[in-house]
Amino acid sequence: MDKFDSTTSTMLFQIAVDGYSSCGKSTLAKAIARELNLLYIDSGAMYRCVAYYCLSNNIENLAANDWDRLMSEIEIMLTPSPDGNQVFLNQTDVTTAIRNPNVSKIVSEVSAISSVRRKLVEVQRSYATERPVVMDGRDIGTVVFPDAAVKLFITAELRTRSLRRWNEFRKKGIMMQVEEIEANLLHRDHIDSTRADSPLTKAHDAVVIDNTHLTEKEQLDRALEIIAAKLNSVSNF
Ligand code: C5P
Repeated sequence: MDKFDSTTSTMLFQIAVDGYSSCGKSTLAKAIARELNLLYIDSGAMYRCVAYYCLSNNIENLAANDWDRLMSEIEIMLTPSPDGNQVFLNQTDVTTAIRNPNVSKIVSEVSAISSVRRKLVEVQRSYATERPVVMDGRDIGTVVFPDAAVKLFITAELRTRSLRRWNEFRKKGIMMQVEEIEANLLHRDHIDSTRADSPLTKAHDAVVIDNTHLTEKEQLDRALEIIAAKLNSVSNF
């Protein structure tokens, strides 16, 4: 595929990368952004910010009405960084803090709340008004950008996902049992796919990539082929 340059193109489009937890969505989305010079946005980081805010302020068991008030206290900003996104919560850099396993433990419960989703979907859409964007998450192709030009749905076997996450944690000095990670992934996948509001599901027009036996390069090549085919069918780009 010819190198696409979003800084010289006037085309506005979105690429949605959805799938289960720890499937390598963000690795792929970041690589696509680098390759095609698109804006990369990590929607999961926004949900993590809300969970982190709740943990930091000892907020539990809020009544449905109170979530709107809580969300009005929260300002989230993502900026591009060499590693993906730098994440700011009320002007404080929380890029590293939101990756803590304690945040992962409660993030799916927080993400199931409609007031939280309503506000964050608005923020997510605001990033796509000026530049083509590649965004990863759970409901990007179904809810955030139902008209996305390209929708990818990423899967991998559970053991592969757990081992990848275990390795990532180990490199950061966080020691956890693979079984504990696996239980967290299953827990999040279950809540994410069974919640009433915007459950994780494959969009009918999404293309599935199972990356269990793919290298990062092979996965990227496959994604770029799919993107080229889809974009060529809607324009002469
Ligand atoms: O992508 P990541 O694993 O960091 O996302 C953390 C959590 O945020 C997910 O487990 C899910 O509960 C929630 N999420 C969501 N919708 C998105 C992105 C993430 O509900 N678009």
